[in-house]
Amino acid sequence: MARTNSRDRELRDRAEAVIPGGMYGHQSTALLPDDYPQFFERGEGTHIWDVDGRPYIDLMCAYGPNLFGYANPQIDAAFVRQLGLGDTLTGPTALMVELAEAMVAMVSHADWAMFCKNGTDATTMALTTARAHTRKKTVIRAKGAYHGAAPWCVPRPVGTTENDRAHQILCDYNNIESLEAAVAEAGDDLACIFAAPFKHDAFIDQAEPQAGYARRARELCDLTGALLIVDDVRAGLRLARDCSWTKVGVQPDLSTWGKCIANGHGLSALLGSDKARKAAASIFVTGSFWFQAAPMAAAIETLRLVQTSDYLERIFAMGERLRSGLQERSSAAGFSLRQTGPVTMPLFLFDDDPDLRKGFYFSSQMLERGVYVHPWHNMFLCAAMSDADIEAVLNAAEGALAALRQQSHTLQPVPKLAFLTTGGTR
Ligand code: PMP
Repeated sequence: MARTNSRDRELRDRAEAVIPGGMYGHQSTALLPDDYPQFFERGEGTHIWDVDGRPYIDLMCAYGPNLFGYANPQIDAAFVRQLGLGDTLTGPTALMVELAEAMVAMVSHADWAMFCKNGTDATTMALTTARAHTRKKTVIRAKGAYHGAAPWCVPRPVGTTENDRAHQILCDYNNIESLEAAVAEAGDDLACIFAAPFKHDAFIDQAEPQAGYARRARELCDLTGALLIVDDVRAGLRLARDCSWTKVGVQPDLSTWGKCIANGHGLSALLGSDKARKAAASIFVTGSFWFQAAPMAAAIETLRLVQTSDYLERIFAMGERLRSGLQERSSAAGFSLRQTGPVTMPLFLFDDDPDLRKGFYFSSQMLERGVYVHPWHNMFLCAAMSDADIEAVLNAAEGALAALRQQSHTLQPVPKLAFLTTGGTR
């Protein structure tokens, strides 16, 4: 059955003329299968509809922001109510204080909160706070870890300068010796250690954090006076109702949040402990839209659902079902599928698939069967998912795996992914 995607194609053609490259950043379809839609019309619950009217069960959840379902009635009602009262005003509403209180009550290391718009705002503000606190410059972070698209951390440094990325040392995630060597190299200039809550880099297997690594990062910060920052922008609220490193028993000084904290409305946050309060108060950070009240109203409702529902237990249960169901179906079809990371944020990669040709074909086949999966980035479960959704995903996977079985010997390399095996850059 041929898919009609004429509206998507038409929009792409028009975009070419008025948007550089037709699209930018993570939604550039340059690194997705050719049949993936670039433009969408709407979302509701667990589904998104592309501009050609095709619905998909969406395992990307907008790259994280959708935690309680698209267009969640309770959260969006709070958003719309506040929109009617006022959103971008000359100053914040009382909701800012209420939300800061709710976040501080929820996250055990946090004594204060500051709000911004994107995850990158929060991670950049964390870095600035750490440098203000320590009056030192060097930041240690893990190779391949994503912390946003500002010049200091953007993965593709075209248009940035070496100075933008100065005073940084990269280490290997979960490798204590490499972390210790980075700290030694920083000498007496260490401002902070950044840590992703788990290794969630693109294109490779994900890895849980080792408790020993997390504890050593804490100790090294305490020894040097540097601040420990957990970047929970992506994983926040999908592993714990607290900072994700509480799961390994380590409390950071700062944590960064975004994506799902307002269930898709534009809001991010930097949380910190008292130790960093004075420094956070001393830096100049702001933005025209940072005090918007409607996303804060949405965040308060989102956190209410976090506290009063069993969403976390449910997404873990769904994730377990998805993982074991896929394991069964892939081995029955004769494939070894590596499923890594927490079950609420899964990534699937096929064995013997260094250039992802199998992954691309499988993902296209899933799309054809009404499920939007990602071939090389971790996915996200949301609390709107039902047993029926998981069943539908597994049925689609059965069909997609059978199609892959038939085609796997004839699949050609995907030219746009050549960098994976040639070592070039994307
Ligand atoms: N940190 C992490 C761990 C992320 O996953 C992201 C976004 N993918 C960011 C920071 C940046 O967030 P944003 O895209 O909202 O700026």
